[in-house]
Amino acid sequence: MNKPVLLEGAKTIAGEKGTVSERSFIMIKPDGVSRQLVGKIVSRFEERGYKLVAIKSLTPSPALAQEHYSDLSSRPFFGGLVKYITSGTPVVAMVWEGKDVIRQGRRIVGATNPLESDPGSVRGQYAVSVGRNLIHASDSFDAATKEIGLWFAETELSQYEPTTWNWVMA
Ligand code: ADP
Repeated sequence: MNKPVLLEGAKTIAGEKGTVSERSFIMIKPDGVSRQLVGKIVSRFEERGYKLVAIKSLTPSPALAQEHYSDLSSRPFFGGLVKYITSGTPVVAMVWEGKDVIRQGRRIVGATNPLESDPGSVRGQYAVSVGRNLIHASDSFDAATKEIGLWFAETELSQYEPTTWNWVMA
């Protein structure tokens, strides 16, 4: 497990808040992989114009899942949540970059409970259960900093310019 990156490292890990280099951690959970929705979900971010900075498929260790969801450790569903994320069916961990990507990522993903999610969101289109809601998106700049540092080494974060970048981000 990579060590969580301190918030002082925010500028290099989660980009620069509010700029086109802002980054978010997005993860397709095991149900999204098992249901073969990876391509559809990745397309949402690509087609919006965001830049894929890192992507990998893995089964996280319990320690990694617990640290990722450490804010929820006192909640009654915490044990089940960790089991779900570490089930053995992999997750797809990603870093996406671009203007307002943290807030827009949350909108693309939809509300935590899919029954309350906008029907145009990933959860609202494909899910019906809060315990199987397909996807995670960082909910703040500080969360993005923690999560990107937790799941990725800095050397795994690519720097390049998509050919569409100037047209999308101007
Ligand atoms: P979000 O993923 O939308 O940021 P939270 O951080 O509140 O939502 O919760 C993290 C994850 O924990 C949810 O995406 C969901 O997988 C799970 N979860 C949240 N609430 C419940 C619940 N009441 N029962 C089961 N799982 C839950």
